[in-house]
Amino acid sequence: MSQAGEQGTLYVVSAPSGAGKTSLVAAMLRNDEKLCVSVSHTTRPMREGEQDGVNYHFVSREAFEAMIGRGDFLEHADVFGNYYGTSHIWVRDTLAQGRDVILEIDWQGAEQVRRLMPECVSIFIVPPSSDVLRERLTGRGTDAPEVVERRLAEAAEECRHALEFDYLVVNDQFAVALADLLAVVRSQRLRMSVQQERHGELLAGLSQ
Ligand code: GDP
Ligand code: ADP
Ligand code: 5GP
Repeated sequence: MSQAGEQGTLYVVSAPSGAGKTSLVAAMLRNDEKLCVSVSHTTRPMREGEQDGVNYHFVSREAFEAMIGRGDFLEHADVFGNYYGTSHIWVRDTLAQGRDVILEIDWQGAEQVRRLMPECVSIFIVPPSSDVLRERLTGRGTDAPEVVERRLAEAAEECRHALEFDYLVVNDQFAVALADLLAVVRSQRLRMSVQQERHGELLAGLSQ
């Protein structure tokens, strides 16, 4: 249970498509029950095996544009010709419950979130090489060849923004990359500003 007043930490995770962001974030959630991931809204077509409300909230362009008009999004962006966006209310309420929230979003969204919530912690994930990225995107088998080509072409643009992030994780061996991500989360929880709130009485007692 979270303590009253304790806000969760917001993590922004970006990567070129196919770097392993979704698999790694799913593994982080299995390892840490205080973490949760925001389910984005998107106008892209559903892939085989995806579920509405689980992988994404799949909506039409009209519905998405109406949501933009209502100010429902913390951030939104056009990625590979489709809209993607993060619900403002869900993120705010979940952080207020003391849970740590991960946003799996592109660099444009990361830029917007950093501006609105400068206290967020941002992590960029890269594959060990361009060849490996191609293999993973092709091997995943979820996208048509022309979609794979488009995503590879956009990968360089995404990577040009890597230096804007707080942390860089190389996803070569999955288990190592996962441990690196969990280490970032753990270190945030050990920060004095966080620990002081949690262990205020202990510190006061030890200081008498
Ligand atoms: P799950 O397979 O349904 O549990 O979903 P995940 O998101 O965990 O895995 C998605 C993909 O990532 C699968 O195709 C797995 O083969 C791959 N994956 C998961 N764990 C590992 C791992 O430890 N090493 C490697 N190389 N790939 C992994
Ligand atoms: P993203 O969400 O960044 O587009 P995915 O999580 O869908 O990427 O991963 C792309 C593909 O690469 C998936 O088929 C996944 O199983 C595979 N993959 C992810 N990490 C690794 C790794 N370290 N070694 C080998 N394959 C991986
Ligand atoms: P995919 O279609 O492979 O699931 O995602 C494609 C890209 O869209 C990825 O780079 C992913 O980070 C980005 N993306 C997913 N959800 C959001 C979102 O809510 N906002 C933004 N800005 N980008 C997103």
